[in-house]
Amino acid sequence: MDRRSQRACLADNYLIDLKAAIIVDVEATRAIRQAEVGAARTMIERTEDRLGLCPERLAADSAYGSAEMLGWLVNEHAIEPHIPVFDKSARDDGTFSREDFAYDQEHDLYICPAGEVLSSTGTLVNDGATLLYRASKYDCDACELKPRCCPKMPARKVPRSIHEQARDVARDISKTDAYVRSRRERKKIEMLFAHLKRILRLDRLRLRGPFGAQDEFLLAATAQNLRKLAKLIPLPVPTPA
Ligand code: SF4
Repeated sequence: MDRRSQRACLADNYLIDLKAAIIVDVEATRAIRQAEVGAARTMIERTEDRLGLCPERLAADSAYGSAEMLGWLVNEHAIEPHIPVFDKSARDDGTFSREDFAYDQEHDLYICPAGEVLSSTGTLVNDGATLLYRASKYDCDACELKPRCCPKMPARKVPRSIHEQARDVARDISKTDAYVRSRRERKKIEMLFAHLKRILRLDRLRLRGPFGAQDEFLLAATAQNLRKLAKLIPLPVPTPA
């Protein structure tokens, strides 16, 4: 539902209604991922405050698929994330990845491929966003799977984001037909940015600074919406001479 286009070091962020391809909010930010993700939050909250609109789903690319963003969408706003999950847990050295460990939600622990338990002390690491689930050294020392699990460590550790449940929601959605439809509909955003560049010629900014950029982006979005609305008005039927 939103996407960005970069010009110099500033980015134009749109929040659009996917059904009608109408732009509902605009935000100029620096062209860095963190600022663009922050813009998505700002636009969603502002649209809800000003227009009383809250999306049921947000379709966006993987730049918006961080654990924190997914947690914000799912847990704080009940918005379905139609977004690829940003996930680096897969291993390519032949050892078990996190998905080889089964999470037991009821008891808050992981079960390893050998059937042993990995538990957490509840201490948060990595900026307070991750829990570490550890196997017992006693179990790992005696385990014949150790060379495929933790060959260079005394015991296996499995990290779990505090937003993992929201990530699971996004993973489940990614297997649905609705997700495929959302991905197709995101092309409407690309078309808006292509139009911005080719037809409105907004490939460089005339006004300076972030406020100038915000004004230019806002005017361009207004022009695009007006053009869209004009197309929706039926042409008058020509009267015979
Ligand atoms: S090495 Fe430890 S964590 Fe890995 S499979 Fe064996 S017992 Fe489980």
